[in-house]
Amino acid sequence: MQAVVQYAVTPMAVELREVPVPEIGPSDILLKVGAVSVCGSDVHQAYGTHSWAVNIPVTLGHEFGGTVAAAGRDVAGFKEGDRVVSETAAVICGTCLMCRTGRYNLCPSRKGFGYGVNGAMAEYVKVPARCLHHVPDSLPFELACLTEPHSVAYNAMCGNAEIKPGDLVVVLGPGPIGLLCARMAALSGAYPLVVAGLAGDAARLKTARELGATHTVNIQEQPLEDVIRDLSPIGADVVCDASGASRPLDAALKLARPDGQVVKVGWSPDQIPIDLNPLVLKNVRLQGSFSHNYPIWERVIGLIAAGLTKADLIVGLKADLPGWQDAFAAMHNGKVIKSVLMPGLSA
Ligand SMILES: [Zn+2]
Ligand SMILES: [Zn+2]
Repeated sequence: MQAVVQYAVTPMAVELREVPVPEIGPSDILLKVGAVSVCGSDVHQAYGTHSWAVNIPVTLGHEFGGTVAAAGRDVAGFKEGDRVVSETAAVICGTCLMCRTGRYNLCPSRKGFGYGVNGAMAEYVKVPARCLHHVPDSLPFELACLTEPHSVAYNAMCGNAEIKPGDLVVVLGPGPIGLLCARMAALSGAYPLVVAGLAGDAARLKTARELGATHTVNIQEQPLEDVIRDLSPIGADVVCDASGASRPLDAALKLARPDGQVVKVGWSPDQIPIDLNPLVLKNVRLQGSFSHNYPIWERVIGLIAAGLTKADLIVGLKADLPGWQDAFAAMHNGKVIKSVLMPGLSA
């Protein structure tokens, strides 16, 4: 079968390869991939700007859904032909405190698809059945595959941050995760809702408005601090740093009001000094947010299927596996918010 494989930990060491269809164990299913969306992290791995360990060679892709092609003998609840999406924690220990309390996304042994084990940018992928969720027939795979990034945003804004209706919420960085965080904030009643980006983000900031942002700011043109001060002299109730860089945490801590919240969902290899004094001086709650777990997925599937997340607004390009390079480049260059690969699309 065809697969998009990263074969070295150097920039652009990714190619379309012929690989064997995976063999499954008793508790796995073989999934015929219907759609796999390209994540910023796939793009980072391809361009060599990632900050995590990659087990090469590895098939990329961790945001996916498809049809069960075969089920191992111990699998209950899923059978051939079922339409499903898959969580990303492909390997967990199952016995640590985090695993035993349902927060297996934080298992120290966790390995995810697309960097730790082979992912879904292929015709087939092997998935432990515990990762699966059914999706309604009415939900096309090109939107169902977006359950993963939606779940990242849900966990950041509705789990790790607590938004109340009327909260002034600021999202830094209008990438795919930032935009989905903005949507989750809007669904939670954030008002006003500010999304900030750079001059090159004009199209993404326009989408942010369609997703519910009341204000968008190009910080190269307008000081964000002034915008927030005009909306509330005391500062923002919640600031989400979805920029994917380290530096904006400085701004996030400055923008938060006393006793406000900062949630950081983007990460990067930069190691830079941050002024942490506002954290103490203002009694700010700084919270990291990583991944997601079962209850979040069930809830998010319902939200996407009902059209409440407006998921269709962020898909800008669909391609077959051989079109992976253009799909990655379009995201890297900011031409589209999200690309989706659909094996066999042109067939
Ligand atoms: Zn992702
Ligand atoms: Zn564990």
